[in-house]
Amino acid sequence: MDLGLTDKVALVAASSRGLGRAVAEEFAREGARLVMCARGEDDLNRTRNRIARDTGSQPVAVAADLTDPEGVRHVADTAAEAFGQVDILVTNTGGPPSGPFEAHSPEAWRTAVAQNLESVLNLTRAVLPGMRERDWGRIINVTSIAVKQPVDGLILSNSVRAAVTGFARTLANEVARDGVTVNNVMPGYTRTARLDWLAGQIAAREGIDREAAFDRWASEIPAGRVGDPAEFAALVTFLASERASYITGTSIPVDGGWIRALV
Ligand code: NAD
Repeated sequence: MDLGLTDKVALVAASSRGLGRAVAEEFAREGARLVMCARGEDDLNRTRNRIARDTGSQPVAVAADLTDPEGVRHVADTAAEAFGQVDILVTNTGGPPSGPFEAHSPEAWRTAVAQNLESVLNLTRAVLPGMRERDWGRIINVTSIAVKQPVDGLILSNSVRAAVTGFARTLANEVARDGVTVNNVMPGYTRTARLDWLAGQIAAREGIDREAAFDRWASEIPAGRVGDPAEFAALVTFLASERASYITGTSIPVDGGWIRALV
């Protein structure tokens, strides 16, 4: 299937590792021109060079903190200087800490909102006018299965991602006539540094082995295993494609069947 991504400009946020990295790799393989970003410059450049070596593409890598509006502006400006436009935006960033309500200070809530909601708004604000002008755009937000079925112990993530979902559903209606689609992809348990870290937290709290935490997750998933980032990236790439022009306003899980809801 020709996805029509050759030479499209894709900005993939938080792409030095994990889900963002897998999405960046897939876009590069499809011939898109790529802008990557993350906080840690060394990590980011290593990933950028690896993708360049494996795919022959020449991604532009920008070190920036997406929690800071200036960081987002820096990423958007660099993308504009390098390629003149952004056709595809994948919003993504690190996940908030785990713990029950009492564990989180007002400051922790503000940080989670800045990191996981405001970064989405600021990235969108930076690229949406150009997409509307050109009558073509794709905005894909990385959220979580927590939107459909809250995950115990992740109250910050459960709460803030609901706001992103409301934002995206509303924006989708506002921009659909301009050829811009807005969708969310909800990762289930997917093997990344974030999931290793969450497993470590559970292991420490419950006095169990880290792998026992993974086994418990796997036992809750009909597929019987956690996901691979490439499986997540496959859906994001399709939603970014020419072929996905009539899909907008949705939230789609990639979760091995974990969400038990009918629709
Ligand atoms: P990860 O920790 O493996 O990777 C996160 C990436 O974000 C890294 O590249 C990191 O450098 C970057 N990053 C973190 N904070 C940043 C900031 N302030 N500014 C710029 N870049 C920043 O995480 P992941 O597993 O790839 O998860 C990505 C997102 O998906 C997270 O929000 C996570 O909570 C969510 N999620 C993940 C899973 C899973 O199982 N992996 C499940 C549901 C939701």
